Amino acid sequence: MPIATVDPATGETLRTFDALDDGDVERRIAAAAAAFTHHRLTPFEERAALLERAADLLDEDRDTIARTMTTEMGKPVTAARAEAAKCAKAMRWYAQHAAGLLADEHPDGADVHDSGATRAVVRYRPLGVVLAVMPWNFPLWQVVRFAAPALMAGNTGLLKHASNVPQTALYLEDLFRRAGYPQGCFQTLLIGSGAVEGVLRDPRVAAATLTGSEPAGRAVAAVAGDVIKKTVLELGGSDPFVVMPSADLDRAVATAVTARVQNNGQSCIAAKRFIVHEDVHDAFRDRFAAAMRELTVGDPKDEATDVGPLATEQGRADLEELVDDAVGRGADAVCGGRRPPGLDRGWYYEPTVLTGITRDMRIHHEEAFGPVATLYRVADAQEAVAAANDTPFGLSSNAWTRDRAEQELFARDIEAGGVFFNGMTASHPALPFGGVKRSGYGRELSGHGIREFCNVTTLWHG
Ligand code: NDP
Repeated sequence: MPIATVDPATGETLRTFDALDDGDVERRIAAAAAAFTHHRLTPFEERAALLERAADLLDEDRDTIARTMTTEMGKPVTAARAEAAKCAKAMRWYAQHAAGLLADEHPDGADVHDSGATRAVVRYRPLGVVLAVMPWNFPLWQVVRFAAPALMAGNTGLLKHASNVPQTALYLEDLFRRAGYPQGCFQTLLIGSGAVEGVLRDPRVAAATLTGSEPAGRAVAAVAGDVIKKTVLELGGSDPFVVMPSADLDRAVATAVTARVQNNGQSCIAAKRFIVHEDVHDAFRDRFAAAMRELTVGDPKDEATDVGPLATEQGRADLEELVDDAVGRGADAVCGGRRPPGLDRGWYYEPTVLTGITRDMRIHHEEAFGPVATLYRVADAQEAVAAANDTPFGLSSNAWTRDRAEQELFARDIEAGGVFFNGMTASHPALPFGGVKRSGYGRELSGHGIREFCNVTTLWHG
């Protein structure tokens, strides 16, 4: 894949970039390793001041970086601005909380004495240079939710961003530089995916985090396994959105639409499979489809646009294949199921609701990365759980019910890294984020996220 900015609204290549050569990569790894030797020793207050400064700069840059993101990957500009604001908030959250999250722990006295120690301390020390392999769908947020905790913990970062968002990738390096981070603390590597293995095998690189597709995660984890390096993987999702009879249907429908089409439908934690109790199924279907039809699909630079183009031509082709396969096997497109008439230049796809899904359809098992919802009818809560779990993924889930017993059942049995009741899955710096099954492992955000790239050190005193 060439490293280039290609506008998904027109298909036009706006800028291309040369990949770094081996010498450039070597110099950047060396700089990251050198920066670690002093960054790891800086006090939390100094790290916090740097990150707060980066947050302030990001706030100042919000409109420009939002336009860049929209140009590179097609998200509506209103959503791009919200993403930038969310990143600044997360930076401030980690600036304020990292010292507390990584404070020394003092295990209980009796247990410590039982180990033969007079006292013991658990200390969170940084790991070193962390490589982040990141996707284009939230090109700022995916990076910041790695970088903010990693830098606060005392690590340094190397970013290999997706090849279609190079300007956003370079912006991030520049942002941290302008905030005052010493050279080498955070660098962007403009490299193709084929060059990732060499970086990860370098002994100066301690660990890696990857957000993206299963094949990418598998490739990076295999190399990391070979050289015994820690990884965190945040891969795809096909989150269920369960609606039971006690749900507030107005809110459930409105949230279902947002949850499915946010970011033009290209979010790992988007609700993708709508599993609805038979008592409310038809009402939900009709209102959901009506609301999906009303969305404004068009130029993502236009403030009134709800749904822009898909980020890549390949992404739209993949989505079309999934829908065509389902319809060919008997699914019904209640709305959408095609490219929007009149929008011929960009990689647009109509918001779509499919019913009559069966297990032989690819879309039942695969992630639909675009504005396409699948709808299932179930008879009770147990059936809803079975349907929710009938997927290789386990990122997050949504459950609409006011019934306490049903909430407990879903909390106990849905195989996912989160269950969001009567609301939409969204990440927040204070809450852990990540999945099970083929959605990956490890956690980002919160105390769990910042500790992933720490050496949890036992200090034992005899
Ligand atoms: P990829 O997973 O291919 O890309 C994500 C990142 O991984 C990019 O930086 C990419 O680099 C890199 N990468 C890809 N292959 C390798 C490899 N073998 N070794 C090392 N790094 C690699 O996402 P795509 O853009 O191809 O999207 C395909 C599908 O992935 C989507 O349809 C969706 O299902 C899923 N996806 C999920 C995301 C999520 O948030 N969980 C985000 C994006 C995609 P490069 O760009 O240079 O190829």
